[in-house]
Amino acid sequence: MIRAIKGTRDILPPSSAAWNFVEEVSRDVFRRYHYQEIRTPIFEETALFARGVGEETDIVSKEMYTFADRDETSLTLRPENTAGVMRAYIEHRLDQIPGVTKLYYIGPMFRRERPQKGRYRQFFQIGAEAIGSESPYVDAEVIEMVVEILERCGVAGFHLLINSVGCPKCRPAFIGKLREKLAEVAPGMCADCRRRAETNPLRVLDCKVPEDQPVIETLPSILDHLCAECRTHFDTVQGSLSDRGIAYEVKPRLVRGLDYYRRTTFEITHGALGAQSAMMGGGRYDGLAEAIGSKVPAPGIGFSIGEDRLVMTVEESRPAVPALDVFVAPMGDAAAREAALIARELRAQGLSVEVSADRKLKRSLEVAHKSGARFAVILGDDEIAAGTVQWKNMASGEQIAVPRGELAARSKGMEHG
Ligand SMILES: [Zn+2]
Ligand SMILES: [Zn+2]
Repeated sequence: MIRAIKGTRDILPPSSAAWNFVEEVSRDVFRRYHYQEIRTPIFEETALFARGVGEETDIVSKEMYTFADRDETSLTLRPENTAGVMRAYIEHRLDQIPGVTKLYYIGPMFRRERPQKGRYRQFFQIGAEAIGSESPYVDAEVIEMVVEILERCGVAGFHLLINSVGCPKCRPAFIGKLREKLAEVAPGMCADCRRRAETNPLRVLDCKVPEDQPVIETLPSILDHLCAECRTHFDTVQGSLSDRGIAYEVKPRLVRGLDYYRRTTFEITHGALGAQSAMMGGGRYDGLAEAIGSKVPAPGIGFSIGEDRLVMTVEESRPAVPALDVFVAPMGDAAAREAALIARELRAQGLSVEVSADRKLKRSLEVAHKSGARFAVILGDDEIAAGTVQWKNMASGEQIAVPRGELAARSKGMEHG
């Protein structure tokens, strides 16, 4: 028997309804903030991710699905989508359109992570990028938009963390201080930290090993080293978040190891997911365009939400919505012909309608119960002769005769969308 590949999964009903729900909410929020959808290819040239995500990262060094095409071009299934969106932005000269370019995407990404509960090798992200402005108000608006998506999905108790990682003017001095201190303390830290202390000291701040946490607390903070411009930028982001009534916590250890990240970084964690896993992450990446070969600078900020985790949270709190309004149960051939017309009328009103494939009432009602139908319409030769149908409330079991001509009026406004 052939099974789904390890780390992938089938999203089946009724769970798929929760996926549709979060995607519909997201699309509606994006529309209100004037973001428009971009769909980029699932695979790109490997070089895009090597440069855009960074050779040093775990994603590029260990987790990408990379393969040689038949002409030997190295291709990679996208492990994230910011690099692809930025590639498209540059390729199609979207910088020539006046104003900030605001794009969103929803789709699958691929990373060969170690198998772990709730982690998938094909996983889904909902994300957005605002490209073409360095304004701190753009940062605050992007964060406001993420918060609105989570709130409207019914996620409660999430926690917004923000930080500034400075700029190429002020960060080198901070990294210098960090290296100095790490030369002293790194030998007592985990193997990853000892290696990162040399290769990418910022990433030491991101270590999750419990024994290293007290040491990390003693390391210098980027916030003590911001230049005047970065300080003002960060203060303005915070002021604007407060103006919008958004609660946040400044977390100086929230950093990103890549050089192109500038200033604002943010993350949202959710209690139910444990300390390890953020539900979404984002940040400003003013140097990315140049990193992937653009001649013109294209400052931007974006985020991506882990849709798998968001759906999991939504499913815990949101009762499953019945997918079927009316189950039509005809008994006999004449009734079957009439049932098709009844279904047609009710569907025209927006109701979800199923017609039984069975002619035996008992079996039909069993299927109606199992499918979670709210109502059943029952008709046989007697009803056809009388010009009526039986209208049955499946929850209460109450059943009444309704004149055939009044059926459409009775079910009007019943659809739950
Ligand atoms: Zn700076
Ligand atoms: Zn460590």
